Amino acid sequence: MTSDTPIIQVRDLSFSYNGQPALVNVSIDVPDKEFLAIIGPNGGGKSTLVKLILGLLEPDSGKILVRGRSPKKMAHCFGYVPQDVNINIHFPISVIDVILMGRLRHRGRGRINAEDRQKAMETVQLMGIAGFENRRIKDLSAGQRERVFIARALATDPDILILDEPTAGVDTSGKTELYHLLGKLNETKTIIVVSHDLMIVSSYVKSVACVNQTVHYHPGNEITEAMLDMGYHCPVELVAHGQPHRILKTHGDF
Ligand code: ADP
Repeated sequence: MTSDTPIIQVRDLSFSYNGQPALVNVSIDVPDKEFLAIIGPNGGGKSTLVKLILGLLEPDSGKILVRGRSPKKMAHCFGYVPQDVNINIHFPISVIDVILMGRLRHRGRGRINAEDRQKAMETVQLMGIAGFENRRIKDLSAGQRERVFIARALATDPDILILDEPTAGVDTSGKTELYHLLGKLNETKTIIVVSHDLMIVSSYVKSVACVNQTVHYHPGNEITEAMLDMGYHCPVELVAHGQPHRILKTHGDF
């Protein structure tokens, strides 16, 4: 493998749930240190694609390689922030305990040791939640809670961070702060984010994948009118960096 080899390669991938196709003949390459936004309509297959990349689902046909190996063998490369981290907020657990759970992820059972605590505290600092370690997660805002779950995903220092709709329930300034943090993390990590926040995403991402059973990969952060229409089923005016950001090319079939 050379330094130009994509960190993730998806080739001719198809996947169905009980005979119902969710993704058909998908091929994309994700370069190392990419910041990729996955966009598309609800039910388009975004979460399914993420789960296949993570090795949580197996393709019906085609293949996925992560640094040239199967996703399952490379599970240690991934940090994953699933959807809906705000669902069980009343579970009585502290911020630091959530993050420490991330340390146990790849080694299963075992005692938390001093190195685990040190790494957890490093991610606390990185995510700007110092001082909140002993709070219950229910006592945080949605944006703070999201940072805790990102910290958990970062606790093993993964090369690739994947977030599935990380800003659901987060207010606009919280969203901007979160994407700013992801932009900083992207200096050292590949980031893949499933998002409907096209306005904010377009300021930070390096490429966009439009997913609606098939996948169109667009290098660059230009959001086209066709992408917006696909994501929202109505035309939207984008504002990025405080500037109206009118939309340019289209891509054929959606
Ligand atoms: P998105 O993340 O873009 O909203 P999903 O990947 O969740 O889309 O879903 C893609 C399609 O697969 C949808 O039609 C959805 O109903 C279906 N689907 C998702 N998960 C399952 C499942 N566990 N069992 C059966 N069908 C599913």
